[in-house]
Amino acid sequence: MIKGVKINMELPADAVNFIDDDKLQGLLAQTKEDLPRARELFKKALDKKPLTVEETAVLLAIESEEGLKELFDAARELKRMVYGNRIVLFAPLYVGNSCVNNCKYCGFRRDAKGIVRKTLNQQELEAEIENLEKYGHKRLILVFGESPVYTPEFIANSVKTCYRIKSGNGEIRRVNINAAPLDVEGFRIVKEAGIGTFQVFQETYHKETYAKYHPAGDIKGDYMWRLNAMDRAFKGGIDDMGIGALFGLYNWKYEVLGLVSHALHLQKTCGVGPHTISFPRIKPAADMNIELPYEVNDDEFKRIVAILRLAVPYTGLIMTARESSAIRDEVIEFGVSQIDAGTKLEIGGYQNQKGEQQDINKEQFVIGDTRELDDVMYWLLTKGYIPSFCTACYRMGRTGEHFMEFAIPGFIKRFCTPNALITMAEYLEDYSSEKTKAAGYALIEKELQKMPESAQKQKIITNLEAVKQGTRDLRF
Ligand code: SAM
Ligand code: SF4
Repeated sequence: MIKGVKINMELPADAVNFIDDDKLQGLLAQTKEDLPRARELFKKALDKKPLTVEETAVLLAIESEEGLKELFDAARELKRMVYGNRIVLFAPLYVGNSCVNNCKYCGFRRDAKGIVRKTLNQQELEAEIENLEKYGHKRLILVFGESPVYTPEFIANSVKTCYRIKSGNGEIRRVNINAAPLDVEGFRIVKEAGIGTFQVFQETYHKETYAKYHPAGDIKGDYMWRLNAMDRAFKGGIDDMGIGALFGLYNWKYEVLGLVSHALHLQKTCGVGPHTISFPRIKPAADMNIELPYEVNDDEFKRIVAILRLAVPYTGLIMTARESSAIRDEVIEFGVSQIDAGTKLEIGGYQNQKGEQQDINKEQFVIGDTRELDDVMYWLLTKGYIPSFCTACYRMGRTGEHFMEFAIPGFIKRFCTPNALITMAEYLEDYSSEKTKAAGYALIEKELQKMPESAQKQKIITNLEAVKQGTRDLRF
């Protein structure tokens, strides 16, 4: 037990280390580029079958220009097939940056010099939510450091506040969490507040490297406590699980195999794979003074996204505003399904003026994409993507295992595209600039033209009209 933190860190008896280091290292050392085999695997992935760890290693071994081109083409095609042209938008809301840990890469770490510590009080939290609603956000991820203050009850209360606060037509319809791993009971408490996904990033799956960046004696120093987090979340009733690795701590290929091992482990033990995978790259942070021999360059980053897309066809991929707008522009097509927009990391930052500079002493790290939500919307629309604020599946019980069942041909047409168009129309009516509104309705028109005449199409048209007349929260 760590001083001041009331958490039962005893691992459940069935906790296993599903990262087979010898096997992963062996695969990386011995798998050579084999294009005919890789092509079979592209086909397998395009049949929407998840790849094994060994098969993923075959994709990681591709180095030739020809092979990489085929890899990117396959990922692009799979993304279109499974996710269509929707991109789900969300915003992070940093609730507090107190932290008992000392992760060497993080601006919130216990010993970081110069960092301004702050936790939003109830009034400040409500003001942040109102501001986010006024921008047009419907989906949030609440982010916390690890502190005795941020108990499961505290997190649950923050979630409930998000759902309670309404501003005009604005409301938050889905709240996800990125916080320290809890025990089963803690996860249960947070789940009961109505959360969507609970994210815990392993940071690095390589145990020795993990120990290098997460000092022993800290809660976060316990590799297995973190590795087992999603299994406990599932026991606590959470079937929307978000996993991730912080790229730059260790060999990126190893981390990809770690993520795939994790996804397969959850599928095997919980009957449902992760809902999302995140792949943040390390960014400069306050008082950060570490060497990063494994920093991932942009070309490698592109490969990470494409390979994950093919290896786990049904898992959402999240690319955050850590990445610059130029990189996001390039990489989005290879398989990303969710991005954040209008992101502010400063605690209380959504009340700042638009376009205000980042103050690194108040934030976890430097972000690359500082555009406001409306600009991100416009960018997506001009690229032919449908920005979506849809929260229908989670609110209609289509989560976890159900989600997997529904993620079959026809699902996108029946649910996702209509809901994306309707939630986008809500944004266009309530929050949009004129420019974005024109681009948005032009895209809606184009999407409708693509649909064959049917009762479903008529229903979409009726609902879009109802949105224009002021009805909100219609969903399929
Ligand atoms: N404190 C909780 C924890 O560590 O699990 C909540 C998450 S922390 C606020 C969110 C994530 O930010 C971490 O899991 C880590 O992957 C990422 N992160 C930390 N420092 C970063 C940096 N300098 N650049 C990019 N991402 C960073
Ligand atoms: Fe704390 Fe999380 Fe930052 Fe580690 S990554 S120092 S646990 S906020």
